[in-house]
Amino acid sequence: MNNKTKATWMLAAALSLMLAACGNERAAEPPAPTESPKPAETPKPTESPKQTDSKKPVESKKPTESSGDSSVVPAPPVTSANSESAKDAKTEKEKEAKAKETKETKETKTTKDKPNMSEPADKQSQPSVATGAVSGNGKAGASGPKNPAAAVTDGKTKEPPATGTGDRKALSWYYMKKPKGQVPNFPAETKSFTKDMKALWVGTGKKVYLTIDTGGPLGDIDTLVKSLKDNKVKANFFIAGYNVKKNPDFIRTLVADGHLIANHTMTHTDMNTQTDEQVRKEIEDYAKLYKDVTGKDIQPYFRFPYGRYNTHLLKMVSDMGYTSVFWSTAMRDWEPRKNGAEDPYNDIMNNLHDGNIILMHQGSPENIQALDKIIKAVKKAGYEFALLSDIEPPK
Ligand SMILES: [Zn+2]
Repeated sequence: MNNKTKATWMLAAALSLMLAACGNERAAEPPAPTESPKPAETPKPTESPKQTDSKKPVESKKPTESSGDSSVVPAPPVTSANSESAKDAKTEKEKEAKAKETKETKETKTTKDKPNMSEPADKQSQPSVATGAVSGNGKAGASGPKNPAAAVTDGKTKEPPATGTGDRKALSWYYMKKPKGQVPNFPAETKSFTKDMKALWVGTGKKVYLTIDTGGPLGDIDTLVKSLKDNKVKANFFIAGYNVKKNPDFIRTLVADGHLIANHTMTHTDMNTQTDEQVRKEIEDYAKLYKDVTGKDIQPYFRFPYGRYNTHLLKMVSDMGYTSVFWSTAMRDWEPRKNGAEDPYNDIMNNLHDGNIILMHQGSPENIQALDKIIKAVKKAGYEFALLSDIEPPK
């Protein structure tokens, strides 16, 4: 299993590089979340999420508990189809690396929003320990993220932690779609989630949580903002930091319109490939950037890029004060949709259920084209759009 995972990971990495290098017209986010590998509607009960298309989700999970479930909807492939965002993220990374050398000086200058920087990795020599002292379980507080510095120590040095073992086993979010109106089944690993790994993937009641992921291109912002406004709908945005920098006015507009904007890292990288120090920095830098741009504290919600995570990181992010948000509906929206705007509409309406957390990529033109129609239909079906801050995390 480990070897297999590692092999898959390496394959994925190689693939990512190739794709990033050759580029791809379509800019939907290097997929993050996703739709089932194949038409989810007509899945075989035994269908394995294993990908056959090399461009698709590189590492999928086994539907370990999908007895009789209709379909498995794995997370999207990392850095596939999107040259633009991959490039942006890469540039961002490079900048970060450069900036690192002058980090000390810079940070001293930054007076606002004191960063809770963790110690340089080379100073960390303790074994990897996630302390049990987790603050803030239960409902996510309205206050900003807490100081993560003391909570978790990363034993490793610069090397990305070896994935595939223990609580660092690389996981990829997925769910198993059920017939219309029914809440999907979720991965077996969710049963091992503890209170100190605050995580959400579905709510309850006649509510729908629209989460818009902008790890890739920004797309048609005007239509997006207008569709939400015209319908008086509030959405939840996970916008990568490099996009916030690219268009800070967009973020200010969203805040002014009452939408919730949460932490989606600066560079939109698979966090499984990062050291704890890097992960913390991605998250802390985002919080600082958000504060700089909006003057407000960020909402304590986090989404792992591509839905790639491990339970160690879940705990760490939780210790930083965040609730990790996954999803119960996603679409294969990082690539062109065969039937245009009909596809996102059908994907969402055919999986609509109580507490539905919908993941939609902003970079998909079809999503934005369909948004107004989707919102109206969801409302007509008796659901209300809500903010993540309304959800009580699962116990
Ligand atoms: Zn994303």
